[in-house]
Amino acid sequence: MANKVRSATLKVVAGLATVIVLAVSVIMLTLTAARLDVATVDVGALPPASPPADMSISALPTGTYETPAIFAFRGGSWNDTRHFASTAVLVHHPKGNVLIDTGFARNIDAHLKLISWIQRSPHSKGVPAVDQLASGGIHPGALAGVIPTHAHWDHVSGLDDLSGVPVMVNAQGKRWIDAKAAGTEVINSFRGVNYKPYDFEGGPYLGFSRSHDMWGDGSVVIVPAPGHTPDSVVVFVNLPSGTRYALVGDLVWQMEGLEIPAEKPWPLRRLIGEDDDEVRKDIALIRSASTRHSEIHAISAHDASAFRAIPVFPASAR
Ligand SMILES: [Zn+2]
Repeated sequence: MANKVRSATLKVVAGLATVIVLAVSVIMLTLTAARLDVATVDVGALPPASPPADMSISALPTGTYETPAIFAFRGGSWNDTRHFASTAVLVHHPKGNVLIDTGFARNIDAHLKLISWIQRSPHSKGVPAVDQLASGGIHPGALAGVIPTHAHWDHVSGLDDLSGVPVMVNAQGKRWIDAKAAGTEVINSFRGVNYKPYDFEGGPYLGFSRSHDMWGDGSVVIVPAPGHTPDSVVVFVNLPSGTRYALVGDLVWQMEGLEIPAEKPWPLRRLIGEDDDEVRKDIALIRSASTRHSEIHAISAHDASAFRAIPVFPASAR
């Protein structure tokens, strides 16, 4: 009798072990290199832009967090530690200064406690955007607005230091934030965020179906890209020199996502709840736009090397 029980137990254990090994193997397979097959899309002519001569752009790096490349894009290596940038971008414009994303706040340690343990990785803190701006003579109250590329913690933490500044969100994004969806814990922990909703009332833009022209001169144009999260956007910043940036947020986490191209690993996409089809469509559009129009430089929000293209505040590029 005892032998029968032992034999049955061994069979159950062996079965479980097989299932676990199979599951781990399948998950590991989803991390291996696989070039994403995306089409080349006709994105049309370069959209008109007449940025004022004294418009400029600056980067405000506020810190980084470590992520092995294996978790950043398919085919990345476990041994290749990427220091994910958490950087705000200042667009200086005579009609108003705008921040795109905010980076880490003074209070980043408290914000990290609000997110799930699986998202926390070793981070290093720089100077928060609010303090960088102040030392460069820009009072946060004078900001015309903040445009988050989306409302995840690493993009909105700095709102904590920018109380009262208008936070530009589109209607679909605001619904997602108001639903207190997973990933919105930090933004929803802030009291009295001064949301400034906007519509995509403008026409198609480089293959994206709709657009919002911030100042009406084509210098800062927001398009919907609701794949990473429902509120995700791409912000095009078009400088007087003719250089253009596509700030793609977390459409991809590192530039390999656009360059190979390669998706984020499957378990991470499921954890976040990404819309894979939308992300693939937007990767195709950004790749096609920057291939056809050499003026356009895409920058992934967490790729520190891509940010080298933008001078660090108080330096700026026009
Ligand atoms: Zn992010």
